[in-house]
Amino acid sequence: MADYSLVFTLVFSSALVLVLLTKFYLASRQIRHVARHRDQVPAAFAGTISLASHQKAADYTITKARFGLLELAFGTAVLVGWTLLGGIDLLNQALMNSGLAAYGSLVPQLALLAAFGLISGLLDLPFTLYSTFRIEERFGFNKMTFKLWLGDLVKSLLVGLVIGLPIVALILWIMGSTGAWWWLWAWGVWMGFNLLVLVLYPTVIAPLFNKFQPLEDESLKARVTALMQRCGFAAKGLFVMDGSKRSAHANAYFTGFGASKRVVFFDTLLKQLSPAEVDAVLAHELGHFKHKHIIKRIAAMFAMSLAGFALLGWLSTQVWFYTGLGVRPNMTGSNDALALLLFLLVVPLFSFFISPLFALLSRKHEFEADAYAIAQTDGRDLQSALLKLYQDNASTLTPDPVYVKFYYSHPPASERLSRMGAPTGTPA
Ligand SMILES: [Zn+2]
Repeated sequence: MADYSLVFTLVFSSALVLVLLTKFYLASRQIRHVARHRDQVPAAFAGTISLASHQKAADYTITKARFGLLELAFGTAVLVGWTLLGGIDLLNQALMNSGLAAYGSLVPQLALLAAFGLISGLLDLPFTLYSTFRIEERFGFNKMTFKLWLGDLVKSLLVGLVIGLPIVALILWIMGSTGAWWWLWAWGVWMGFNLLVLVLYPTVIAPLFNKFQPLEDESLKARVTALMQRCGFAAKGLFVMDGSKRSAHANAYFTGFGASKRVVFFDTLLKQLSPAEVDAVLAHELGHFKHKHIIKRIAAMFAMSLAGFALLGWLSTQVWFYTGLGVRPNMTGSNDALALLLFLLVVPLFSFFISPLFALLSRKHEFEADAYAIAQTDGRDLQSALLKLYQDNASTLTPDPVYVKFYYSHPPASERLSRMGAPTGTPA
């Protein structure tokens, strides 16, 4: 058994180093590539994008990538601290000996997960603060006051407790009480929970953080309703969200299922785009629906989770899975929370290398949604809307191609516009 433990420590350490090096390599590629193209607007955009906004996008991209490297180094150190250096073991032993076990096996396990979540959250705080109040602020995107930020933090914590604690307790109970096939039951419950959140999010959770007002602009409403009817959608609800309260980044999305289905426009989007451009952006979102991208994504999530739960079901019975990650399994109490926690920490290392596949699929979906939008609205509107959005969000026009393959869920502007077939140099 000791041998397997050592082998697993080696596998884990190698994966950790490999991921660290790959991410470092990709980020440096991105930084170098963007810096090299900083002095000149790409020829295709020469007529539409100013040098100043091109350089702002370059600086924003480079700043975020550099900061990402710092986060990566810190996150890796923390992961090693939790696992090989014995952080989780220490926490677990302390809770096991604290007398909480007297309240049943569920209580110390929930305490372990809650304590872990709290400590991780605290360790992340400086990074979130710096990212919001230094980086986003410096580039003019942050609109949050510290008070609002703190309020968000407290609310997220409460929502996490109210929603998270019961589902985690239920899963732990299933792990401990339903026998060898527990992972199948747990998977079913987890999927049901995800669907429930999808239904509740737009109507219950999102309104805790933002105001949603029915779209009042009558002419825009008429336009949007006509577009939706043309595309075969019943417009259940058109809402404007006060996104400007937190950030200048603009967006629009389609959310919910059945009766809770709604279209949400960020107020920032309505301010930046003309009505025809808003139409084009909405047509793109409808394209995702027409091509069943959302259902496909949910189906992929179902399949991946099933594989994950099955793997966890097996790993949780292997002593080397714990000892190889620096944790002594409990001799008397249950190890379910430990297994769950270690699994969630380790899986991203191995799934990182299949993430380009998902990014590729997502970029393919974006092209399909663009094509649908062009068929339903004037293609020039989508082009000018995309240009404005890329520009207002300071997305670089010259990302590193390899970096794009790994990380980009949306194709770079140049690819999307050239796929639309029009010369990108002409002001639309
Ligand atoms: Zn899209």
